[in-house]
Amino acid sequence: MIQREKKSYHVYGLAVILMLFTLLIGPIQAAEAAWQPEILVGLSSGQSQVRLSANVPTVLRSSGSASVLQKFKADTAIAIAMTNGTITVNGTPLKVQAVQGLDLIAPDNRNLAGQVTTINGKNYRGAVRLQNRNGRLTVINRVTVEEYLRGVVPEEMPPEWNMEALKAQSVAARTFALKNRHRHVKDGYDLCALNHCQQYGGVAAERTTTNQAVAATRGEAVVYKGQSIDAVFHTDSGGMTENSENVWGSSIPYLRAVTEVYPHTQAWDKNITADDLRTILARHGKPLDSLKKITLSSLDTTGKASADRTASGRVRAVRFEENKGQTSVSGNDLRNWLGLRSTLFQMTLRNDVVFITGYGWGHGLGLSQWGAKAFADVKHMKYTDILSHYYTGTNLKKTILINRGIKHVIIIGL
Ligand SMILES: [Zn+2]
Repeated sequence: MIQREKKSYHVYGLAVILMLFTLLIGPIQAAEAAWQPEILVGLSSGQSQVRLSANVPTVLRSSGSASVLQKFKADTAIAIAMTNGTITVNGTPLKVQAVQGLDLIAPDNRNLAGQVTTINGKNYRGAVRLQNRNGRLTVINRVTVEEYLRGVVPEEMPPEWNMEALKAQSVAARTFALKNRHRHVKDGYDLCALNHCQQYGGVAAERTTTNQAVAATRGEAVVYKGQSIDAVFHTDSGGMTENSENVWGSSIPYLRAVTEVYPHTQAWDKNITADDLRTILARHGKPLDSLKKITLSSLDTTGKASADRTASGRVRAVRFEENKGQTSVSGNDLRNWLGLRSTLFQMTLRNDVVFITGYGWGHGLGLSQWGAKAFADVKHMKYTDILSHYYTGTNLKKTILINRGIKHVIIIGL
């Protein structure tokens, strides 16, 4: 009897907990699905015609307006063309010519997440916006940040890599997107779909593992003193990352030189004749009558700065001597002018050939992708620890919705 009572009490308690769970969590999930920051991704510009279709019923609206210009059933083929300043839809001129642009979107656009739009044969989550730019169409994908990231992370990091590295990349990509969202405001969108911002491949790029990494870190961004950081990343630091002032000229507190699991990674080399080097230097206002000697301290140790190298070993400047004088060129200029993978290099002159050997790939600021992989694989580090390693003094901010329109922000110490 007592046992039965206990049991029934227990069952009753469980039922209450389940009910509370449904009451609390159910609406959170539903509301959270409805709320998400949206991003405008520029896909192409200068188009005279765009072929569209969507997997759900859609309406065509003037951008920023609620009035419906035209309605379409799911999977309708829609050709929108711009000829001599007139917009036609499947050959018929629009009655109201949109000044700003057109949105093809599900009637209830509070939740973009259900819509997949085929744009010129390629699938993208969310809606499409077409903007009139000098009589041509700019094609823009209106997509939630989380769905955008599904098409970004696998383009930026191999999907078969360690899950913790994929999660770190997901948070870095989300933070970058939120911080830089008005980068292309003059073009009519937030971010481009290329390396200039972040490579974005839409639905075709998506992979199971990277989708998992994005979902597992939903809403998380890296913050420094409460503000989203410029979460820059690069392929491989070559052994140690760099202080921002040595690359950009300005000191950013969370972009500091930090050590890696392995020194001297991603070796590369490049040879150039002394004459070709002189031609390139002359083109950039550094003419030499001859090349007699190259002065650059050896690349032996990282973590020890010298007059011509930073603490990470990257080249501050190389001195080139000619018959009568000499000139000095910064490592960053040499990287740009010679197309070098990094500024972590050695440069020697032998028989009128300049031999350049180096390590790493990229500017060396912030998260190193190969470095993140090594920390996850070898040191079994969690993505939170990987992020705090590469972004000095930062925290992780998770934004979720507890009720429609009310954001709940949790700061997670890294
Ligand atoms: Zn861009």
